[in-house]
Amino acid sequence: MPKKAAVAKAEEITAEKIFGPGGLLQTRHPSYEFRPSQLAMAEIVEQAFEKHQHAVIEAGTGTGKTLAYLIPAIRSGRRVVVSTATKSLQEQLFQKDVPFLKKNFAPNLKAALMKGRANFLCRQKVHQIDGQAMLKGIDEVDWFSQIRDWEKLTETGDRSELTFLPDDSDLWNRIDARRDLCTGQKCAEFQRCFITAMHQRAHEADLIIVNHHLFFADLALRQDDFGSILPEYSAVVFDEAHEIEDVASDYFGRQLSSYRFEELARDTESMLRLLQIDAAPLRRQLTRLREHARSLFERFPEREGRYPFGVTERNAFMEQNREAYDQLASEIRRIEAELSALTPKPEEVVTMARRAAEMRRELAFLLESEEKSYVYWYERRGRGIFLAATPIDVSEILREKLFEQFDSVVLTSATLAVGGRFDYLKQRLGVLPSAECILPHEFDYANQAMLYLPRALPDIRHPSFAERAAQEIAKVLEISEGRAFCLFTSYSQMKDIYERVSRSVAFPVLLQGTAPRSTLLGRFRSTPNAVLFATASFWQGVDVPGAQLSCVIIDKLPFAVPSDPIVAARVRALQDDGRNPFAEYQIPKAVLALKQGFGRLIRSKTDRGILSILDNRIQRMQYGKIFLESLPEYKTTQDLAEVARFMESHAD
Ligand code: SF4
Repeated sequence: MPKKAAVAKAEEITAEKIFGPGGLLQTRHPSYEFRPSQLAMAEIVEQAFEKHQHAVIEAGTGTGKTLAYLIPAIRSGRRVVVSTATKSLQEQLFQKDVPFLKKNFAPNLKAALMKGRANFLCRQKVHQIDGQAMLKGIDEVDWFSQIRDWEKLTETGDRSELTFLPDDSDLWNRIDARRDLCTGQKCAEFQRCFITAMHQRAHEADLIIVNHHLFFADLALRQDDFGSILPEYSAVVFDEAHEIEDVASDYFGRQLSSYRFEELARDTESMLRLLQIDAAPLRRQLTRLREHARSLFERFPEREGRYPFGVTERNAFMEQNREAYDQLASEIRRIEAELSALTPKPEEVVTMARRAAEMRRELAFLLESEEKSYVYWYERRGRGIFLAATPIDVSEILREKLFEQFDSVVLTSATLAVGGRFDYLKQRLGVLPSAECILPHEFDYANQAMLYLPRALPDIRHPSFAERAAQEIAKVLEISEGRAFCLFTSYSQMKDIYERVSRSVAFPVLLQGTAPRSTLLGRFRSTPNAVLFATASFWQGVDVPGAQLSCVIIDKLPFAVPSDPIVAARVRALQDDGRNPFAEYQIPKAVLALKQGFGRLIRSKTDRGILSILDNRIQRMQYGKIFLESLPEYKTTQDLAEVARFMESHAD
């Protein structure tokens, strides 16, 4: 059932009277400034909620888009789900914007923050571990003791409250509330469970804040009719909506990694220990499960990376390795049978048997299915092998499961349009919006940023490119006095050019991979004149306002790697359909990635700086125009002296 309005919507209070000059926001927000695009966006979102329509809105950085969708959401009288790209964005909404709205607009607003189960503590596991010799080392004993105390006090059980626990703590993996070991309503702690409490808060809320992963995990579960995570709702706002094709592809796909077999064996062993079940045959089977899993997965090639594993590749693989696969599948079946035969059979055992059966079915699907709507692939990452089947086209799924089920879906981001149109987004997601709009920028890009396109660099495939690009980067860094992100499309190119540039400049140069992402960003922010060399993970979601980031240099137009199995399958599907994959898929995808990368530079009205792309295809090739036309109206030059003058004129 939809919730009643959090704030009664007085007819006479229009969006204009809230967001416009002299409006409510001006009287209540300490840093209010009138932003026409914010008002326009609020009006479109309000209309989408009122008329039960879908809307697509590109709104650049600085629009104030969070309030432009949150205020219409709370005025709609409907339960609205807001989905953001990351947990930190979720927390920002919940800890900053929701309290502001409660204080100033909707004192009765009920908002709930929902995250994946692995973010929460499982009380049952804490009680089970307590007193058992399952802790490794003095640190774990200390952390566990603090967690046990915290468990009695915390209202949420959310791991983000545990600031002392390292990110990669193995202890947390053994005490989190993941579904794998949860017995649900049969658990003695179910009523006090943090997951139960999170669901209750969501059931009572007008506004539910999730991330895309949780949202699509829920949507995929609804598909299986296996029980949903989110309560009923009818309207959704996707912020950072450019990410949803990838996230939806993961959740509507199937996957299984070699690690899952080790985890199954480990979890079953610890369950037997905790329940004090002496099942010697089962323990021996778990040892054999580990051996058979190792034996199957070590037959995959040793090279790192992601590779196609379609019918042809799988048939060849199975011809040689059928026996290893059969042995593994039979062993899982035996474990299922052994678990089912245990007496007495506590609920944990039933859950574990179900998990083993799911893994066996998943393995069979990934190695034997011939369903043509998926692209099959495997990836070797370190010691792990990941098998996956990804839908080639999620547009049909999203049309049916999302856009036809929920009558108001608002998609927004700073990067949705290509060449002034939403054709790409609409085609990839299967959405037919009633309203679509590219809002004017709030920043004066023509004066705030200069786009430098070097005149004389060779083609990116030429052997001299790396050397020449490094020289060009060094010259630009001299002008910007460091304070730059150098963003690359590949690790090898990043490392090669890093070696050359770090030798020739006097600025502190940081390299992705030498420390965790957040540590590197912290160092970049606090080190005067720092330069950061990084790849894809720094292209989006990174915010460094101010002069500390005064330059963004990108090596190549960020086309997706054509040999990647998912990209290759999507290209082939468009070709088979008689369409032009380069124009309809590869170029638009790269345009949006470039907009994201360049978007790191100007984060406020006072930011200034240089953007540069070293790939001369943007100047030479016909399609380069689409990239340039899709970017904000930066001042553009091929002359380094002009870049120097621009920076000088904006010196502090
Ligand atoms: S219901 Fe599940 S997650 Fe909650 S305490 Fe029990 S076992 Fe843990």
